[in-house]
Amino acid sequence: MENCIFCKIVAGEIPASKIYEDSEVIAFLDISQATKGHTLVVPKKHVRNVLEMSEEMASQLFSPIPKIARALKKVTSASGLNIINNNETIAGQTVFHAHIHLLPRYNKEDGLAIHFTEHDPNFEELGLLAGNIQKEIQA
Ligand code: 5GP
Ligand code: ZN
Repeated sequence: MENCIFCKIVAGEIPASKIYEDSEVIAFLDISQATKGHTLVVPKKHVRNVLEMSEEMASQLFSPIPKIARALKKVTSASGLNIINNNETIAGQTVFHAHIHLLPRYNKEDGLAIHFTEHDPNFEELGLLAGNIQKEIQA
């Protein structure tokens, strides 16, 4: 797609620190390096995000992630790794060509803070919500 920064990286039109490539997927170091080794795993074919992905594309995109993650953790001597995917602006997506962030983790002060606010569960509401989502998946 025209003017898509990741399509340009896939096409080799702009440089990237590539760490993995197969027929459908490319992975390269994120320019921002939120933590050392911060990597993006990207489908070669342009798609906006996971919300627009086919099951086939999703399986191709996710299948090399375990081996990339293991290599990243080993080479950086990280203690763990977060996998993050942002879909749409409200969720923090800034590049509208799908990508999965792999973020090696070193310690609690390594610059990455992911915080889930917990709410008291209302089990009746949870049951209704789960039922509605199940129905939508089956529709
Ligand atoms: P998002 O916010 O859409 O989930 O993530 C987009 C990511 O792409 C950001 O972490 C940003 O640093 C990275 N990025 C943007 N432009 C480039 C680029 O030209 N090269 C590389 N390697 N990463 C980029
Ligand atoms: Zn693209």
